[in-house]
Amino acid sequence: MAIDPVCKMEVDEKTAAATSEYEGKKYYFCSVGCKKAFDQNPEKYLRRGGEGEAGADIADVA
Ligand SMILES: [Zn+2]
Repeated sequence: MAIDPVCKMEVDEKTAAATSEYEGKKYYFCSVGCKKAFDQNPEKYLRRGGEGEAGADIADVA
């Protein structure tokens, strides 16, 4: 299983609705919408925590 970096859902690599490559790493998405959002601003989704806004509503779901 991979984690969709946009919505943090678990995505099966075999059934992922969309994939994207960024800096040599492959990412899997639950939907084309998530891929588009990621493609527009990958850094936003790969950087967790840190600078302000993203904080509260994206909690780590373990
Ligand atoms: Zn998603």
